[in-house]
Amino acid sequence: MSSTDFNNTEGYERIDSFDEKITKELATNYRDILKHVGEDISREGLDKTPERVAKSMQFLLQGYKTDPVKILKSAMFKEDYRQMVIVKDIEIYSLCEHHLLPFLGKAHVAYIPNGTITGLSKVARVVDVFARRLQVQERLTSQIKDCIQDTLNPLGVAVVIEAQHLCMQMRGVQKQHSITTTSDFTGAFQKTATREEFIKLISTRFS
Ligand SMILES: [Zn+2]
Repeated sequence: MSSTDFNNTEGYERIDSFDEKITKELATNYRDILKHVGEDISREGLDKTPERVAKSMQFLLQGYKTDPVKILKSAMFKEDYRQMVIVKDIEIYSLCEHHLLPFLGKAHVAYIPNGTITGLSKVARVVDVFARRLQVQERLTSQIKDCIQDTLNPLGVAVVIEAQHLCMQMRGVQKQHSITTTSDFTGAFQKTATREEFIKLISTRFS
């Protein structure tokens, strides 16, 4: 896989322009929020903050605008390879739907093709599309698994996500270093031996 794969925007355009009306309405609301938490919104430093946050939120939640199935379908190839394909250490930046605070970490995705493969970068993009929505880690894990299973119809899919939740670290229980791991498997990965091979491979570090 070449690193340029990830810059191919086919089937997936990153937001670099923003809907003016939505930005304006969001900014009005963020201005109110700043007022309500006791800020002086006439301060110079906060002058452009509502607009900036409005754009930032649209960027962070751009996943609603993209169909992950289309991404996979844009690069499906017939191939007789029937071994495990693993894309590991896919960076995740998501927002928890309970506190609108970030959770971030890594996703490891594997599938065993059943006659059809997809571009490796597409797997990473599917992860990104689901992560760029309001999420809980459990649902994020299952949505990635279901999307790949339903679209590629492989012999099995495995998804493991390890993430730190700022809503746990900055508030609530203030557990600074806890990492939440979620996993979901279909088909061949229900078998202990296959699942263990996957876990072993994602635990191996090459650096
Ligand atoms: Zn939360």
